[in-house]
Amino acid sequence: MAVLKRLVNGLFQCSYCREFLPKDRFGFVRSKAHQIDNRCRKCTNLYKKERYPKIKNTKKYKENKRRSSKIWQSKNPEKTKVYSDVHRAVKVGILIKPANCSKCHKKAKIHSHHKDYSKPLKVTWLCILCHEKEHHG
Ligand SMILES: [Zn+2]
Ligand SMILES: [Zn+2]
Ligand SMILES: [Zn+2]
Repeated sequence: MAVLKRLVNGLFQCSYCREFLPKDRFGFVRSKAHQIDNRCRKCTNLYKKERYPKIKNTKKYKENKRRSSKIWQSKNPEKTKVYSDVHRAVKVGILIKPANCSKCHKKAKIHSHHKDYSKPLKVTWLCILCHEKEHHG
């Protein structure tokens, strides 16, 4: 995916709707946390709604996703264990995953964040944005 570069008076241009918008109207590129996406959030949402469900169901996508998560897991055995602990704890009701981010209080897809991986059940529930900030400032 191309990454946004153009900057006009502190504004970025969305490569889809061509509007000039402040940085906080863009999401992050998943693989590179410091780079913001070349689409504004509005366009990203539209894209996800229209295209993503189709891509998600393709064999190739599933295969890739499985493979990359396998690789990640083998590189991060400690974190993998922590995530499965959290998953299990949520399932049996020890931990309750909120619908809102505990930091910005927005309703979003919530991630579990750990300050200390040796305490798997000490979880901070964050939205993707706050989670990125937590790790990268
Ligand atoms: Zn846009
Ligand atoms: Zn948040
Ligand atoms: Zn985290």
